[in-house]
Amino acid sequence: MIMEVTIDRELCIGCAICVQQCPQGYELDDELKAVVISTRAPGIMDTEEACPVGAIAITGKDTPVGVSHFQAKPVGLGFSREPEEIPVLEKLEPVVRVDESSDVWVFAEQREGKLAKVPLQLMGRARDLANEGKQKVVAVLIGNNVKNLAKELIGYQADTVYVADDERLEHYQTVPYTTIISQLIKKHKPNIFLYGATFIGRDLAPRIAQRVKTGLTADCTKLTIEEDTGLLDQTRPAFGGNIMATIQTPDHRPQMATVRPGIMKVKTFDPDRSGEIIQISPDLRRDDLIAKIIEVAKDSRTKVNLEEAKIIISGGRGVGSKEGFGILEELAELLGAEVGGSRVAVESGYIEQDHQVGQTGKTVAPELYIACGISGSIQHRAGMSTSKIIVAINKDPDAQILTVSDYAIVGDLHEVVPLMTRELKKRGLGGLEEDISWFPKLEYWWRNRVWTVTIGGRRWWRGVCAMLGSRSYIPGSTRLRSV
Ligand code: FAD
Repeated sequence: MIMEVTIDRELCIGCAICVQQCPQGYELDDELKAVVISTRAPGIMDTEEACPVGAIAITGKDTPVGVSHFQAKPVGLGFSREPEEIPVLEKLEPVVRVDESSDVWVFAEQREGKLAKVPLQLMGRARDLANEGKQKVVAVLIGNNVKNLAKELIGYQADTVYVADDERLEHYQTVPYTTIISQLIKKHKPNIFLYGATFIGRDLAPRIAQRVKTGLTADCTKLTIEEDTGLLDQTRPAFGGNIMATIQTPDHRPQMATVRPGIMKVKTFDPDRSGEIIQISPDLRRDDLIAKIIEVAKDSRTKVNLEEAKIIISGGRGVGSKEGFGILEELAELLGAEVGGSRVAVESGYIEQDHQVGQTGKTVAPELYIACGISGSIQHRAGMSTSKIIVAINKDPDAQILTVSDYAIVGDLHEVVPLMTRELKKRGLGGLEEDISWFPKLEYWWRNRVWTVTIGGRRWWRGVCAMLGSRSYIPGSTRLRSV
């Protein structure tokens, strides 16, 4: 049993070799130094030897703690050793062979008889992936009284929908859902299988991967087909968000990935599409139904729906306090927006965790994202850079967030945000929850109005929102002028 893993922070150079070798055991912290997240992670014992600067010390390591066997192969990461040299302790025989697999499958997550948004987004991507390999898009729908959703799935690109409609499946449960999908996989042998990276998807997909002995890449942000091999390139942020890793599953099928909500685009609903609906009778044993749901208690807190929000006003460390978020909330209420936050804002207790945007928070893609007092770390940008229009309010004209912003307001957010609220109220532009056609008017106003802002006790001026155009702002290229 491993007794202790220690890292000498003085020696650690942040090369991330330990993270590459044992991602469940280590991550890099804010200072890009390795930190231990689990001493029981498979492969952790080899990291002492692998560390090029001798920063890792492991004591009491007599017994193996786990077996690393996944065949998912990282590509293009600049490994210190060739991936083939990483010891594979157990090579699993595929349950579904590569040469017998075909089609792109999507788990059609639903709750209370309503389809979640993410399977519709995945179906859009599945269609593109399927077209490249001339394959079909197949959806799997499980629940009670859900048959009626199959037609909707066809309209959103499914060629075939498997429906398991059974009163025992009223509420999501890991084991019966795993059994049903594993049975379908073994019988029909899909090539690719996609899940939303939701609470349900994150619970279900690893169980299925284990049952059908295949790999799984979690939290993908991009899915493409490699031209030469036809393999699915599954891309996701890795090593603290500092690089994008592309992962393949070369020898086992299906190639499985979870994808965060909001990343893939829904294709337009076509009510005239035709497809096949196949009802299946789930073959469930007593062991599959050992858990009985007695009561479902809904979270009474107001639900934050960042993933589907059209406008998000987000705050970071610069907001300064929980009370400071009040001005963001006021602006959000006026615009019918949701309020988000950086991890620092969450960790400082300014805002609840379910509002966090970023790599370890939510991935969002609103029409308008207003970042207030957020520096724009790579981990934050990983969750919001696909927003349509990004406005940054920051005291620092060189803040990273400005590199991805369409508009920059250089100034103190405590002055700028109330000013925006006041001006919007004056112009009667608020409260249009669904319709953001007011945006051109706002843009006009931003382009033409000059605000006075105070930085470090001195007064500066500039066009309140410099029109930076296509996110091509180079930090330092726009000068502030003192008045
Ligand atoms: P800071 O970086 O401190 O920036 C504060 C900004 O506010 C500065 O730019 C400053 O100029 C500006 N400012 C200060 N006062 C004012 C004012 N009065 N008016 C206007 N501007 C002002 N971070 C996330 O956000 N989401 C994640 O999901 C996430 N996941 C992570 C995962 C890992 C593995 C790691 C290692 C880190 C993660 N982080 C994440 C943390 C991330 O690295 C940054 O530390 C964090 O995003 C910084 O938050 P911030 O921008 O609020 O704070």
